[in-house]
Amino acid sequence: MEQLTAWLTGPESIEFRGGPVPQPGRGELLISVGAAVTCGTDVKVYRRGGHPEMLEVPSPFGHELAGTIVSPGEAVEGWREGERVVISNSASCGSCDFCARGNENLCVDLVYLNGAFSRYLVVPARFVERGVYRLPDHLGFAEAALSEPLACVLRGIDQLAPLSAERGVLYGAGPIGLLFTAVLAERGVEVVVADPNESRLELARSLGACDTLEVERGVSQAERVRARSLGEHGFDFSIDATGVPEGWLDAVGSARPGGRVSLFGGCAPGTRLELDSHRVHYEELTVMGAYHHRPADFSAALELLSSGRLETDLLLSSQRPLEELEDALGDMLARRAVKVVIRPHPDN
Ligand SMILES: [Zn+2]
Ligand SMILES: [Zn+2]
Repeated sequence: MEQLTAWLTGPESIEFRGGPVPQPGRGELLISVGAAVTCGTDVKVYRRGGHPEMLEVPSPFGHELAGTIVSPGEAVEGWREGERVVISNSASCGSCDFCARGNENLCVDLVYLNGAFSRYLVVPARFVERGVYRLPDHLGFAEAALSEPLACVLRGIDQLAPLSAERGVLYGAGPIGLLFTAVLAERGVEVVVADPNESRLELARSLGACDTLEVERGVSQAERVRARSLGEHGFDFSIDATGVPEGWLDAVGSARPGGRVSLFGGCAPGTRLELDSHRVHYEELTVMGAYHHRPADFSAALELLSSGRLETDLLLSSQRPLEELEDALGDMLARRAVKVVIRPHPDN
């Protein structure tokens, strides 16, 4: 089998490049990709033709993957051919002030791995040291590849620290919003999910949302949404998983006095928004940004997936060969699919 890699070359432009199977260098691992999973970030990157932190075109593309070690490079210790693994899409430096404080997601030299949409991938040395995790036999590659988005969600939840007696609201039932829903429900926290798409709300209910609300896009929904909170005072916490400024403002507008707001969805670069300072001050709102994940979140995500406590099959809408990547992203854009599993090798 030869190499085949999807390169992002510009906005909505993908090129497949072949060639011989690459060889791992010193400290590196060669992986055969068992499954790569599409994500909301991929769609954003595909539409915009890049990402300010993660990817500059032309570049191999995709970042959620699991597979099998084909061969360890020279001087690699602790990894053998044939082991099933999931790879984190970022590796921190391990020595800066932020890494030392356990904020590896804010590392001054965070390096990203792109190229999940490929038959084979060479994992760089820094990732081999800090970003490769062994899979239990019973966990499939596609489910394991969810470790990355789930790790981001666990980071967000950790920061938000919801209590089991609380009720929150979540805007945006995309892949991330649905993962949030599943984890919160699993922890016994009530979450109301707001999204314009009824089929997504149905999924949210299946994953444990206590209530759902079909909202309109482009106009403020905060008042309508607040009406669903206890005493209509607003929610104990609110989460934006839309990544658009209206979603951020609705999340702020839905929190109760003393409430916490997680602005999880990343807006386009240069986005600014106006906050009601009166509310933030006199109602003691805590507004927090959330970005990416730390190694501890990644391990916790893999453990949660291995436990089988989340119904992740509801999120994996379909499977396609690598050559149909653009159709898969099209399905994501049209919201026909939550996540698509890409199988780069025709025989697995
Ligand atoms: Zn992702
Ligand atoms: Zn660092």
